[in-house]
Amino acid sequence: MVVLTIRKRTAGLGLILLLTLMVLGITSYTAAKHPNMDNWKTERILIDKVQTDKKVVALTFDDGPHPQFTPALLDVLKKHNAQATFFVMGNKAEAHSYILKRTAAEGHEIGNHSYSHPNFNKLKKDAQLEEINKTTAIIQSITGQTPTFLRPPGGYLSYDLVEMTKKQNLTIAYWTYQQDSKDWRNGRKASVIAGHIIKNIGPGQVIILHDGCPNSMATVDAVDIILTNLKKEGYTFVTMTKLMKTGK
Ligand SMILES: [Zn+2]
Repeated sequence: MVVLTIRKRTAGLGLILLLTLMVLGITSYTAAKHPNMDNWKTERILIDKVQTDKKVVALTFDDGPHPQFTPALLDVLKKHNAQATFFVMGNKAEAHSYILKRTAAEGHEIGNHSYSHPNFNKLKKDAQLEEINKTTAIIQSITGQTPTFLRPPGGYLSYDLVEMTKKQNLTIAYWTYQQDSKDWRNGRKASVIAGHIIKNIGPGQVIILHDGCPNSMATVDAVDIILTNLKKEGYTFVTMTKLMKTGK
């Protein structure tokens, strides 16, 4: 009787654990993967990494420009002679246009990350297009560059969005899944962020980081650690456009 009770209880706990894992698994799966994602990757409409044997990777920074973190990050990149891609928000680019100008002038690539970072799930197609086009126009007017990559806010994907981006000659810049260090989480330390990326490094990766979040000073420090260590391993750091040209 006692044994039976324990077994039942264990089975119950096991079931709860299994269900929890399933829910977590499903949540992260849908957030990370659209059912057609693999086809878009094959068609090179969406890039999350490139096939190469060369030790070349793309560092990408979202949600800036930020008046404090972005200049600090630019200093670190300059110190290591590394190039990166900045997925900027249109409204922040307007507010800190001098930082965006500096970013472009120092050889970094500017990508489109929408105007105000809304939840695209709740936005009609026209409003999504406006968010994208407005930001492209702002980047053009400040830097003279025409962005060729879009990183949709929150990694949002839909058939409509892909159709729109094709028409605008934009490629969707995703990121290498195992390299998501969640650097934006408050309290995540530079050593933890850097450790995650150094441990999982491989040729052709697109690494997602953030320069426009409250925790981004940790990201800046992490980039210094990442560059110091991975340059010793023979890695070079290039823009998204260059990375794509490196790929097979
Ligand atoms: Zn973002």
